[in-house]
Amino acid sequence: MKDRFATVRERMVQEQLLPRGIVDASVLDVMRTVPRHLFVDDALQSRAYGDFPLPIAAGQTISQPYIVALMTQALGLTGNERVLEIGTGSGYQAAILSRLCSQVYTVERINVLLAGARRVFDKLRYFNIVAKLDDGTLGWPEHGPYDAIMVTAGGPKLPQPLVNQLADGGRLVIPVGDPRLQVLQLVQRSGDEIVVQELEKVRFVDLVGEYGWR
Ligand code: SAH
Repeated sequence: MKDRFATVRERMVQEQLLPRGIVDASVLDVMRTVPRHLFVDDALQSRAYGDFPLPIAAGQTISQPYIVALMTQALGLTGNERVLEIGTGSGYQAAILSRLCSQVYTVERINVLLAGARRVFDKLRYFNIVAKLDDGTLGWPEHGPYDAIMVTAGGPKLPQPLVNQLADGGRLVIPVGDPRLQVLQLVQRSGDEIVVQELEKVRFVDLVGEYGWR
């Protein structure tokens, strides 16, 4: 999409993503095109492509561009996947995912955020995203299993329902740890075997729910 921020997005890719090891061409491409500034408050638009997270409504945050790219790249999407995201927030991460797979299901527990995200999805005509209000630590069993799952809030442990809804060969990324510091885990399922790999230290808002923080 060509808009007044296209050059700023290109600079974000050159300065924040490439030097830190984001190499997946399709991920870099969507980071260059999805209009992140539409997912933040009007007053913050000029800072939307900065190398930091930004506040959204209800005390939540939209992750730093690099973290969005890192988590997306970790899922290794090729275009035909069905993906579950927990923590819709602004909707930016779901929007990025939606350009790289066939269908995104996203769950948010705070209504104002869900409503705002839906408005932007409609505006951008990103019709392959379905969003609902619920406790995402329970997953969204009706549409599972999922080829990929991304949790964008930090919890004390890996929620078992999400593992259960992960397809054979599927990948899940989630920040796990205490509320002030987590490790980004990449979980891969093959058959009954679960392999966990630690990517890097991160700081996310709390995952609040039955299998998260109470
Ligand atoms: N992916 C979002 C990040 C938003 S911050 C974006 O791109 O903007 C994390 C979000 O997770 C918050 O909006 C918070 O309300 C939500 N959240 C926390 N616990 C949740 C739960 N159990 N189910 C669904 N959403 C949850």
